[in-house]
Amino acid sequence: MINVTKTYLPPFEEYTAQLKRAWDNVWITNNGELVQELEAKLKVYLGVKNLLYTSNGTIVLQMALKALNITKEVITTPFSYVATTNAIVWEGCQPVFVDIDPLTFCIDATKIEAAITPDTQAILATHVYGIACNVEAIEAIAKKHQLKVIYDGAHAFGVNYKGRSLLSYGDISTCSFHATKLFHTVEGGCIIANNDETDHQLMLFRQFGHVYDDYISVGVNGKNSEFHAAMGLCVLPKMEAIIADRKRITKQYDVSLDGIVSRLAMEDSLEYNYGYYPVIFSSESKLLKVVELLKQDRISGRRYFYPSLNELPYVAKQSCPVSEDISRRILCLPIYFGLETENIQIIIDCVSSIK
Ligand SMILES: *Cc1c(COP(=O)(O)O)cnc(C)c1O
Repeated sequence: MINVTKTYLPPFEEYTAQLKRAWDNVWITNNGELVQELEAKLKVYLGVKNLLYTSNGTIVLQMALKALNITKEVITTPFSYVATTNAIVWEGCQPVFVDIDPLTFCIDATKIEAAITPDTQAILATHVYGIACNVEAIEAIAKKHQLKVIYDGAHAFGVNYKGRSLLSYGDISTCSFHATKLFHTVEGGCIIANNDETDHQLMLFRQFGHVYDDYISVGVNGKNSEFHAAMGLCVLPKMEAIIADRKRITKQYDVSLDGIVSRLAMEDSLEYNYGYYPVIFSSESKLLKVVELLKQDRISGRRYFYPSLNELPYVAKQSCPVSEDISRRILCLPIYFGLETENIQIIIDCVSSIK
C-alpha cells in the first residue's frame, strides 16, 4: 500500500535515548527539558526570535486570533485545510473568503481590498503546499487598512522566501507538526509572533493564563509533552536528508509529467521544501479516473484540498469560482522519504495513461 504520505520515523533507539532523559528527570510534561531544547533548536533552524511549541497546529490559529483581539471579520482563503476556517468560526469571528490566485493557489492579494469592510480586522492566509502568499502585497494592504496578518504556515516548515524563513512573516505565523506533515512530533505545532508582547501573551494562553500562583489572563491548554518533543529532537537533524529525498521524487515526477498535468507556479526567490506534489487535471472526471486507477495498484492520492472552504455547510454562502474549480481538479500524488523509483514510475504511468 502506497499512501499519499508516510510518516518519517527515526531509528527506535534514537527515540528511546531521548525518552530516557525524561525518565531520568521524572518530568514528562509542563515545559520540560526536552520541550525547551526543541524550542531553542527550532528558533535556530527557522531563524526566528520568538517561537512557542504547542500541542497542535489548530489551537495556535485560535490562540493567534485571540491574542490579536480579533472578534469580527477575517479575510481568509477558501483553499486550505478546514482547520483554517474552523479556527475563525470557533473564535466567533466571520470568515470572509477572497478567491485564490490561479497560479499560486494562495489568496489573491489583488482581490483583498474589495472585501474590506469597517468590520474587517485581520487577514488569515495559508501558504498552501508551502508556496508563499504574496507577502509584500498583503503587508502593504494590512498597513494601509490597519489589519493584523496571520499566516497558517502548516505547510511552510523549511521554506525560505527572500532569504528568510517563510514562517517569519506576518504578525503571527503558525505551523503544524502533525505526523502527516514534513517535520513532525507525532502531534504538535508552533506559533511565531513578531512582537515580544504578543509572544508573552501567547505563552500565557498556552498554560491556562497563569505562571505558578500568578493568575494573569484567560488561557487554554496548548502545551505539548516531553514524549512529543523527543520525536522532534530525533526528526529535526534529519530534515536536510528528508527535504533532499523529496526533491529527488519531485524531479522524477516533473520530468515525466511535464505537459500531461499542470503544476503550480513558484517564484525563483522561493527555496522550497518539497512538502507536496499537487497536480491539476483538465477535468474532474480525469482526476476521478486516475484516483480509480491508482486504487487498483493500492496507491492513494489525496484530494487535498476539496471541497473549497467557502462551500462548507456552516459558513455564509460566498462565491470563489477559481478555488471551487481548482479544488475539483487537484490531486496530491504520493511523496515521502524513501518512496522508491519503481513505485514513482507506476504512479507516473497511471497519471499518464489518462488522455
Ligand atoms: C494540518 C493543517 C492544520 C492543522 O494542524 P494540526 O496539527 O493537525 O492541528 C492547519 N492548517 C493547515 C493548512 C494544515 O494543513
